Amino acid sequence: MPSLNDIRSTFLNYFEKQGHAVVPSSPLVPRNDPTLMFVNSGMVQFKNLFTGLEKRDYTRATTSQKCVRAGGKHNDLDNVGYTARHHTFFEMLGNFSFGDYFKHEAIPFAWNLITGEFGIPKDRLYVTVYHTDDEAFEIWKKVGVPEDRIIRIATSDNFWQMGPTGPCGPCTEIFYDHGDHIWGGPPGSPEEDGDRFIEIWNIVFMQNEQFEDGSMVDLDMQSIDTGMGLERIGALLQGSHDNYDTDLFKSLIEASADATGVDPYGEQNVHHRVIADHLRSTSFLIADGVMPSNDGRGYVLRRIMRRAMRHAHLLGAKDPVMYRLVPALVQQMGAAFPELSRAQALITETLEAEETRFKQTLDRGLKLLDDEVAGLSQGADLPGDAAFKLYDTYGFPLDLTQDALREKGLGVDTDGFDTAMAEQKAKARAAWSGSGEAADATVWFDVAEANGATEFLGYDTETAEGQI
Ligand code: ATP
Ligand code: MG
Ligand code: MG
Ligand code: MG
Repeated sequence: MPSLNDIRSTFLNYFEKQGHAVVPSSPLVPRNDPTLMFVNSGMVQFKNLFTGLEKRDYTRATTSQKCVRAGGKHNDLDNVGYTARHHTFFEMLGNFSFGDYFKHEAIPFAWNLITGEFGIPKDRLYVTVYHTDDEAFEIWKKVGVPEDRIIRIATSDNFWQMGPTGPCGPCTEIFYDHGDHIWGGPPGSPEEDGDRFIEIWNIVFMQNEQFEDGSMVDLDMQSIDTGMGLERIGALLQGSHDNYDTDLFKSLIEASADATGVDPYGEQNVHHRVIADHLRSTSFLIADGVMPSNDGRGYVLRRIMRRAMRHAHLLGAKDPVMYRLVPALVQQMGAAFPELSRAQALITETLEAEETRFKQTLDRGLKLLDDEVAGLSQGADLPGDAAFKLYDTYGFPLDLTQDALREKGLGVDTDGFDTAMAEQKAKARAAWSGSGEAADATVWFDVAEANGATEFLGYDTETAEGQI
């Protein structure tokens, strides 16, 4: 059975043989794009090649790109622990053409890899095309996909845009049917959100350009951008629909079980899964220079860390856990990503310090939360001022509170939370003006707000689209 490390190599070698330059993953923090919180797809590091702004000495490339989807538009944080196919950190395998080959090559490349090299049975595969893309439909027919397995989709799922303006185009997606023992329906059906039909590969045909006035033209330079989740294709090739059953995740889950003394595959398994997932995103973010803080990227990191710590707490952990799992992660992924090995000491120290700090308030905060929800009935909301107290006094990010309540079928009054936050800010302003430094203070608060320099503003700073 191939390991995830084997599969990554097979993918890159396959495209290298087809004339693609093997390009390393870019760091998770985008270099030239302050609007994007984290790199969330393979195409991000190539944006300027697709628009023609930049030229390199290759027109075909292949990568295994580190991606984080835990904030902004592509936020899979709430899916972790609930679906079998989403992570906050994952690797996106991709092949790219910058004005080189187009649909007639890209579709057979993908089909031959998965049905030939990977040996995936054809009668388990379905594909989608954008409803008007007859060309892609015909190519799929030609490679041997029966017509009733080529599904036309009219939604934005099958039309990709780099942003509100700029390059865009139809896309085609490849799905695998894991069988009727798992809940879910084919793409385009009302049950498509289940884990039965899993999207494994998304292929974008960049052929148009969108302008501000709403008009769209054909691009002179047609390009290809693809993305396949390594963990999803890995699960499939290892005989499961579940990413968390792969060799890599099993070893992390077992490390979490060793550290907590809780059965890795018993009822508590969901906590181990969340811990394993969050260990990867936090460690890779630290390796790429993000440190926990109260705003922006650092606050996203802190939120992920704290969520993981609550799950460790639910496993009964009395002492910090996450930092003890770092060696297992480095053992699995350090060879493919040397930056992870190099940062091992920093990751360990950062996790331990953050866990030790949050431990001081976590237990008391959770007790308060229990007391607050004791009288609530199913579907009710925790009052906003209670959520704010947890945030302000106990360091509970709002989404951690929401995560804790979701398990109990409860929500949070987020408007009430916002009001409590605004009241506190107003009080702080008033206190400053009373101190005789009013003019300066007002300026400071305006700057702080404009820059998102509070914990709460650390949420949605992402505006640009890096998705494929
Ligand atoms: P889904 O519909 O399952 O959420 P997506 O359409 O959002 O996936 P894309 O943006 O098309 O995903 O990304 C390309 C590929 O990356 C997907 O086909 C999938 O294999 C993988 N992928 C996307 N999101 C995740 C994730 N959160 N965890 C693991 N793999 C992912
Ligand atoms: Mg998605
Ligand atoms: Mg999708
Ligand atoms: Mg997709």
